[in-house]
Amino acid sequence: MMTTETSVDALPGVGAAKLSRLEKLGIRTLGDLLLHAPRKYEDRTAFARIGDLQPGENATVCGEVVTMGLKSFRGRGKSLFEMVLDDGSGRLFCRWWNAPYMKRQFKQGERILANGRCKTGNPLTMDHPDVEAQGDADESEVHLGRIVPFYPLTEGITQRWLRKRVWDALEEMTFGSEPDWIGWLEKGFFLTHEEAIRQLHFPDSLEKTSDARERLAFEELITLQIQLRERRVRLSKLGAAPEIHADDRLNREFLKRLPFDLTGSQKEVLKEVRDDMESKIPMRRLLQGDVGSGKTVVAVCSMLMVLECGKTAVLMAPTEILAMQHFETLSTWMEPLGIRVNLFTGSMKSDLSQPGQEGLALEGGKARLPDIYVGTHALLEEGVDVGELGLVIIDEQHKFGVAQREALVRKGRYPHLLIMTATPIPRTLGLTLYGDLDVSVISELPAGRGEVRTFVRGRERMPKVIQFVKEKLEEGRQAYFVYPRVEDTGQDDVKAVTGEFEQLAEAFAPHPVGLLHGRLKSEDKEAVMARFKQGDLKVLVATTVIEVGVDVPNATIMVVEDAERFGLAQLHQLRGRIGRGSHEGWMILIAQAKTEDSIQRLEVMCRTSDGFEIAEEDLRLRGPGEMLGRSQSGLPPFRFADLVAHRPLMELARTTARTFVG
Ligand code: ADP
Ligand code: MG
Repeated sequence: MMTTETSVDALPGVGAAKLSRLEKLGIRTLGDLLLHAPRKYEDRTAFARIGDLQPGENATVCGEVVTMGLKSFRGRGKSLFEMVLDDGSGRLFCRWWNAPYMKRQFKQGERILANGRCKTGNPLTMDHPDVEAQGDADESEVHLGRIVPFYPLTEGITQRWLRKRVWDALEEMTFGSEPDWIGWLEKGFFLTHEEAIRQLHFPDSLEKTSDARERLAFEELITLQIQLRERRVRLSKLGAAPEIHADDRLNREFLKRLPFDLTGSQKEVLKEVRDDMESKIPMRRLLQGDVGSGKTVVAVCSMLMVLECGKTAVLMAPTEILAMQHFETLSTWMEPLGIRVNLFTGSMKSDLSQPGQEGLALEGGKARLPDIYVGTHALLEEGVDVGELGLVIIDEQHKFGVAQREALVRKGRYPHLLIMTATPIPRTLGLTLYGDLDVSVISELPAGRGEVRTFVRGRERMPKVIQFVKEKLEEGRQAYFVYPRVEDTGQDDVKAVTGEFEQLAEAFAPHPVGLLHGRLKSEDKEAVMARFKQGDLKVLVATTVIEVGVDVPNATIMVVEDAERFGLAQLHQLRGRIGRGSHEGWMILIAQAKTEDSIQRLEVMCRTSDGFEIAEEDLRLRGPGEMLGRSQSGLPPFRFADLVAHRPLMELARTTARTFVG
């Protein structure tokens, strides 16, 4: 009995030599062979008559070789092989450039099938058609009178030969029963696995091939989703998180003082977080929300729920600047509630190692409330004692792998975890990369934000841009000038950005201009940021260190140099730095966009401000590897699934896996 596990050399005609050739195509077992998908199909149910062919038409003909020959163009190493086919209705010239080996493959008088596009001209010609000898009558049902597959090949393997092996494999194979998850889907929604494999190779119609590919793509997607889901369930069996039944006494107090109402989206997310944390299965939730959508408030409300139940909460940011900023915001918000906020960053260890100032006194001598801890990742990495931890929030750090994330958070306990990111990850990718996380999305921005308009300009327009920025400075606004950071040449970058800074400082005098880049010491960075925030600096020249989280509502203009060197998602992040206040914002992308793609990409920025749409576009134009960094993408190599085209399938795979694994 042959199954998917059977080695391909069990098939007639596959010896040691062919075996090693097939291995080059990644084919070792019959299962591999049957998943080797055709790259195209050819309809051989009927042949076209050569005499009826029209220039431009794509067709398959069957004719006899009446003559053939090889011309070499001496000295230039080029050659042309020509072959003339006659089917009784007319003659067709087939031509191949630089393929002298063709000469050995056919004989005069032999009947040949040729498929390709006819070129204009007299005589009727096809350049580089796919050709195949009509062959023996005993194999004719494999190669003739049907839609036939064409496979990716390697040296020593021909179409006809491989097609016959697949045919034989399909004849001999015993297919297993359908996977259990199929029971969770509507009956007949997909072809069965066996039917899909048969239709993939020898389809009844071309439509059937897409049904087949859909089923096989779904198999890949759901296999991955089930793995991820099982990992999550295993985690929940390892240890229990504290059940958080919040009574809202702190949250009510907090929301009452907040100068705005929560948006509908924020409330929805909070409900999801509340539901998650009521269970002892540790929450593992990813919160995606565009820049400025108000994730910090959601973080605070979530932390307050945990504090209400006597547990502590931790908020971690990727950089010290961001941690500082969160610390300031949270301190202001928490002080009236009598909650102490502690800061811990790599360079400011002192705060927590000292036994600390007395917690703020509480009315009525009640027991002190648990603390909130804010810091960089050093906070948990260095094992700071944070008491009875109920919730960890990781801000702007979606790139952690699962293992890294768990190692950071767990340390023998199983707190709830909320990861927040403004990097809009296309839903398709998110479902795959974060299959073990539940996903919440803040889909609306708070009302009353100024609109940001985006323009793409060539480098030669710089003087005008400077003039424009000057006018805005006169109106009291502030501006960012952003320069790309080139990996590996850090020192040069500092020099480059310093040079630009000097020129701009001169151009904008007497308005004070500041410089911020990654090589500055962190206290210098903070000082520059603070001066910009207070309005002492009108212009900030920076590398992308300002990318995440920085909040200066009065800064409404951003000029990005060499914009084509940034990813769209990154530009979108940058754009989030402006339009945080009620004033209109301007983003000016300075580009020397030379290729179609880069122009197209930058135009997406002008067209939409929807982070998810931008991310989808980035994914479409650059592919998942590029977008996330090839090594980081962690995506399994799919044969059939396409992250862009199969988005609805991916959703279905995810929901099916959830009900299936339970
Ligand atoms: P992000 O999601 O980018 O982290 P923030 O949490 O920093 O966004 O919020 C951006 C700004 O919007 C902050 O100044 C915050 O106080 C304000 N904000 C948050 N929620 C609302 C709301 N519902 N209505 C009005 N302003 C809000
Ligand atoms: Mg934020």
